[in-house]
Amino acid sequence: MKSFILGFALVTSTLVASAQARELTLAEKVDILVKSYPGIIKDGSDKAVTFAGSAKTMPVDDGVARDHFQKLESGDIVDSLEQIYLAGPCETKPDVNFDPGRIRAEPLMKLIYGGSRKEVAGNLVPVKWFGETLQVTKVNGVNKALEAVRDELVSRSDLRKYLTPSAGVFNWRKVAGQQNLSVHSFGAAVDLNTKFADYWVWSGGKPGRVPVYKNKFPMEIVAIFEKHGFIWGGRWYHYDTMHFEYRPELLEIAKRSGVSACK
Ligand SMILES: [Zn+2]
Repeated sequence: MKSFILGFALVTSTLVASAQARELTLAEKVDILVKSYPGIIKDGSDKAVTFAGSAKTMPVDDGVARDHFQKLESGDIVDSLEQIYLAGPCETKPDVNFDPGRIRAEPLMKLIYGGSRKEVAGNLVPVKWFGETLQVTKVNGVNKALEAVRDELVSRSDLRKYLTPSAGVFNWRKVAGQQNLSVHSFGAAVDLNTKFADYWVWSGGKPGRVPVYKNKFPMEIVAIFEKHGFIWGGRWYHYDTMHFEYRPELLEIAKRSGVSACK
């Protein structure tokens, strides 16, 4: 009987270990991407994605070889899914050039949220945010996800000072010092109170020289945003700790890969 129990325990722990961390294939990652934008991205493979309601297709890999900085400026879909975001209520100091989610496929974002200021603005709806009203995209239910975050935080008066005044959601602009659009251009990212923000550029960073990582935002706030599909800029080597953006595919890829910020 004893040996049976030991044998069972061994088998169980082996299964747990193998389920805990597994590198997903590109096809699996694209499948998660497709399912994260239902009714918008229709189908996908490791070669291309197709869009609902149009004949548009987009290659997953555009064939251009890029270094990390070029990926940050103009990534394709494969670049945007390469680094695995680490979620969970634990703070980690990001490794050099570990920027999961900071690499985005801008052509994909434009097809999802709108290709111009006017197109994006047509999808914005008001979201009440602790006495403020934020303009958030309704595409893919981002507004609902942010409302769910708010509803979980509403009873936490001790955390209120971090959440408001917010530094805003919608702002059609480029990333500081880069050619690509900020996710704020799509109404799918929120900046919390700048008073508690640590941003690598404001800390005196220059390309290739990033100041020491700092963060003042409680991990309880981060965990609630992550639960509802938002990634946190405080997980990035090029850190931006007030920044949260809706990237449900990256949280699902992390979950399915069995990785976490909590060791
Ligand atoms: Zn931001």
